[in-house]
Amino acid sequence: MDFKPANNIQDLQYFGEFGGVNPSISDSSTYTFLEAKTMLDTFEGNTDGCYLYSRHTSPSNLYLSEALAAMEGTEAANVAGSGMGAITPTILQVCSAGDHIVSSRTIYGGTYAFLKNFTPRMGINTSFVNITRLDIVEAAINENTKMIYCESVSNPLLEVADIKGLAALAKKHHLKLVVDNTFSPLSISPAQLGADVVIHSLTKFINGSSDTMGGVVCASADFINSQKSVIDGASMLLGSSMDSLRSSSILKNMRTLHIRMKKHSENATFLAKKFEADGLKTVYPGLKSHPSYEIFKSMMNKEYGYGGMLTIDAGSLEKANALMELMQEKNLGYLAVSLGFYKTLFSAPGTSTSSEIPEDEQKEMGLSNGLIRFSIGLDNDIERTYQMMKDCMLNTGVL
Ligand code: PLP
Repeated sequence: MDFKPANNIQDLQYFGEFGGVNPSISDSSTYTFLEAKTMLDTFEGNTDGCYLYSRHTSPSNLYLSEALAAMEGTEAANVAGSGMGAITPTILQVCSAGDHIVSSRTIYGGTYAFLKNFTPRMGINTSFVNITRLDIVEAAINENTKMIYCESVSNPLLEVADIKGLAALAKKHHLKLVVDNTFSPLSISPAQLGADVVIHSLTKFINGSSDTMGGVVCASADFINSQKSVIDGASMLLGSSMDSLRSSSILKNMRTLHIRMKKHSENATFLAKKFEADGLKTVYPGLKSHPSYEIFKSMMNKEYGYGGMLTIDAGSLEKANALMELMQEKNLGYLAVSLGFYKTLFSAPGTSTSSEIPEDEQKEMGLSNGLIRFSIGLDNDIERTYQMMKDCMLNTGVL
């Protein structure tokens, strides 16, 4: 595949109103009209280039949306105030009472809780399956199914979805394939592999500085327009809008995403290989031991690598906690949820980001108590980082 997501972002050129090298920030929630008729036309969606109200859209949000659509190679995109603010209106736009979803069982805890506990209240039910088994996915599809939902690389187990295979199933059964690509921006381009809708939490790698929340839905112009409809659009009516000041800062950070992703991947690959050689149970899509190594390789935009996320099993929650506290004390990273920061972040998903998933289900999906999820940072000297991490592991009995 010859898809160049970073080139697509780079080729977008925006100037400020006084010739600034960055586009001006639209510091307004509402917009004036010289003629009342133009306001009515804009409300009805008949005027291009006119702005009405910033929950619908703003110039700053449109710039960022355009850059994200270019990155994923979709016709359009719409930014939201958070990743969940992109996920929930996508699900509710596609599904109504009586509908059914087939979802990967290993997904971000918030999405899992929404599908498991919240949407059943609206008559939307979900089957959670092993997404790496296409036969199991197909068997779960029934006459009410409207959507297959997955993450390209899943949170927290780093299972890899065979997006081409899932897209073929979605096509065969007339379903929408929705892929959350938060863990693998640039590396994987789900829409190029057949996904109908691609979602990101911008809070993570894409913004990269852990200073804001954000989300985006990338899809066909029809789908994005339907979500933004003032009559029945889930994004417009649920109201998780991004603020223009934030979209402007995220757009600036996106300009360096390709450099950051390469470094995150390089550092994570280095550490994953070392940890595995030391005898630790290590999961990283770039290791040959990963069950979906070949699938990731076949889907990836090679220059960005296998991403910045890896997990190790410390053996027990006590050991995991001791290791994370010591690594933090040695300034090797922070004991924090989230990901995609310049600094390494680590947490034990079973007691944090996946705690919404009941313990017996965690066990069944292979989420052990001692699992530590790392978002590997942009350390300049990763060999030094490794030596220091190894000392911490020896000191806490993890090694
Ligand atoms: N999708 C994934 C894969 C995530 O890891 C997260 C958050 O951790 C989200 C979505 C939710 O994003 P946000 O926290 O920006 O709402």
